[in-house]
Amino acid sequence: MTKFIGAHVSAAGGVENAPLNAKGIGATAFALFTKNQRQWVANPLTEESITAFRKNCKVADYTPDQVLPHDSYLINLGNPDPTGLEKSRAAFLDEMRRCEQLGLNRLNFHPGSHLKKTSQDRCLRTIADSVNLALDQTSGVTAVIENTAGQGSNLGHTFEQIAAIIEQVEDQSRIGVCIDTCHAFTSGYDLRSREEFEKTFRQFEEVIGIKYLKGMHLNDSKKELGSRVDRHHSLGEGFIGVEPFRWIMADPRFDGIPLILETPDDSRWAEEINLLQSFII
Ligand SMILES: [Zn+2]
Ligand SMILES: [Zn+2]
Repeated sequence: MTKFIGAHVSAAGGVENAPLNAKGIGATAFALFTKNQRQWVANPLTEESITAFRKNCKVADYTPDQVLPHDSYLINLGNPDPTGLEKSRAAFLDEMRRCEQLGLNRLNFHPGSHLKKTSQDRCLRTIADSVNLALDQTSGVTAVIENTAGQGSNLGHTFEQIAAIIEQVEDQSRIGVCIDTCHAFTSGYDLRSREEFEKTFRQFEEVIGIKYLKGMHLNDSKKELGSRVDRHHSLGEGFIGVEPFRWIMADPRFDGIPLILETPDDSRWAEEINLLQSFII
């Protein structure tokens, strides 16, 4: 079995530092922001930075299938306000292009929010249109929808909503899904018993299809099942508990995709990666 396990590491000082930071904690996968995630506009990646990133990935043994870049938190591809939508679409396209430049093959994004100004269906349509626009202008990068906890007016907290976006994407070879275990749990998908775990991923298969799974975020949760609040916890410390992570590691459905920790205590990542590795059978 091939499991790629890592964490969302820092790219401070340049994207080229991310693969080195990942290597330093014994990761076989990593996530990163390719620009400051709290700013709209960033300087373009320099040739030096791009070359160094590619070189460091090669030296540290990371192929594109082991890397899951994450887009900016500011982007709302379903924004009902035309000005806000335009800004988000431009920023998303820029993020997709950065991935292209870095030779990466996927970009993880949060689908979007209706801000209580439009219907859910209309918002999902807008998100799909935004993805279509970005895919039309890029190549080789898959847009990876992350399931959400359903805080506020964030969509993507049910498998049906994610399926509705996928259905409206023209090039379905370049759309994927990232399941965050904390978000799944707090949006109401139980994972704690073997039975519930199987039920959740059976539903995923029936509603979306496992072939679309292009990454996972492995997080325990500080909040209860169905609370629709997004607060990550270290593995085994929260309401999910450690067992479901053991099942993920032993399951071939989760082979060959980046499995990324976004747990709050980064001093524990190396230990958490070791623990996950020990679950592989
Ligand atoms: Zn996540
Ligand atoms: Zn989260």
